[in-house]
Amino acid sequence: MDKKKVEVYRKRLLEKRDELLQKVSQSDQDGREADEEATQDVADKAANAYTKEFLFHQSNDNRQILALVNEALDRIKEGTYGVCLECHEEVQAKRLEAVPWARHCIECQAKQDQGLL
Ligand SMILES: [Zn+2]
Repeated sequence: MDKKKVEVYRKRLLEKRDELLQKVSQSDQDGREADEEATQDVADKAANAYTKEFLFHQSNDNRQILALVNEALDRIKEGTYGVCLECHEEVQAKRLEAVPWARHCIECQAKQDQGLL
């Protein structure tokens, strides 16, 4: 992939990383606030548990994407960015446009989604 294109993706990945870092720390904070606001009311406790559960999953998703974003940034450093980890073909531009931290090309991702990889 040419360097100018890589640079565009690198910037997008860095922006995404900042955004995710903010979200992750925000949901940690929200989780603590939900604890502090909790009263002894059973309904409140249930709502609090639900809120924490929701925040936990949301921040888990964000953490997972964050890990993928960091991996993609590593691949940029190594010069292997934009190459499918499975078939070693170039990942389609439209796939990288949609998901700059994609590890697989469209075909391999489809196989993985079906549990074939
Ligand atoms: Zn592939």
